[in-house]
Amino acid sequence: MKARAFKYVRAETLENAFDAYAEADGDCVYLAGGQSLVPSLSLRLQAPAVLIDISRIEALKGISKSADVLRVGALTRHAEMLTSPDIARYVPLLRRAAPYVAHPAIRNKGTFGGTIALADPAAEFPAMTLTLDAEFEIAGPDGIRTMKADGFFKDLFDTGLEPGEILVAIHIPVFGANDRCVFHELARRRGDYAIVGCGIQGTFDGDRLLSARIAFCSVASTPVRARHAEAAIANQMLLPEVIAAAQAALGDDLDPEDNEETSAAMRMHLARVLLGRLLGQLSRADCMLEGVHA
Ligand SMILES: Cc1cc2nc3c(=O)[nH]c(=O)nc-3n(C[C@H](O)[C@H](O)[C@H](O)COP(=O)(O)OP(=O)(O)OC[C@H]3O[C@@H](n4cnc5c(N)ncnc54)[C@H](O)[C@@H]3O)c2cc1C
Repeated sequence: MKARAFKYVRAETLENAFDAYAEADGDCVYLAGGQSLVPSLSLRLQAPAVLIDISRIEALKGISKSADVLRVGALTRHAEMLTSPDIARYVPLLRRAAPYVAHPAIRNKGTFGGTIALADPAAEFPAMTLTLDAEFEIAGPDGIRTMKADGFFKDLFDTGLEPGEILVAIHIPVFGANDRCVFHELARRRGDYAIVGCGIQGTFDGDRLLSARIAFCSVASTPVRARHAEAAIANQMLLPEVIAAAQAALGDDLDPEDNEETSAAMRMHLARVLLGRLLGQLSRADCMLEGVHA
């Protein structure tokens, strides 16, 4: 199948993009890396009259650090999340999750902002913005506003972006000296979307975990933060009984549904197994010294 004929507009600036959006009267869609949009057009799941290419807009590019926050431009490609020294140093959880995002060819074009704007619940990075307490910089014709990752993912492919708004950058608190992080996912084959994926970041005082944020992908219609499991491990040594309590508490955080590939009970079981493994890793002070693999 081929995409319906559309008009192509290349925006050089945010203003260009908003003008084009207004001219198309909403019958349009922004194009970033195209790795989700182009297949969707080809399958005619979407058939906009106008495609507005935002991939050249300078304001959406670059990675920079100020004070305790790393600003990652929306057009940062998944491949850069693997290679950027700033990502590895200041937000290592994203570096750890990056090898699990699709395949090299898709990572070369797909963008960090694109995956967050799309909000596929099976995608790794949107869930990790919850773990990292990220904040989104969003531009509209009337200016810039910000929104926390908590509350941004509303429903399946539905976010806090208003029609016509553009995600400009993602602001992430930088990794602290007493922080540790882990990510892993269970998938049928490497490169497939996860059956269940999880990332955790916590702050320690010696071997005692002070607090942690935990988020899952592929367990619901949105990425999900596991607040009950977080509460079960806060201010604790990560001993086996504490980890078991967090696994039990996960029942109050997740309510997966059956689908044709995996039953709800199996997904819940795998989520608990994954959480247990990751908390075990997190309990070891050397967990940040382990290599990460592309
Ligand atoms: C075979 C295959 C396997 C994949 N596997 C995975 C995987 O395992 N994990 C994973 O996370 N992803 C996976 N993906 C998706 C991939 O990561 C996409 O790159 C990503 O979801 C979308 O990013 P993009 O830049 O390509 O966005 P596009 O495809 O260009 O756009 C996607 C949507 O987001 C909107 N959009 C994009 N950027 C912005 C912005 N800055 N502001 C507002 N709206 C915007 C577009 O209008 C569009 O609606 C896979 C894709 C394919 C084809």
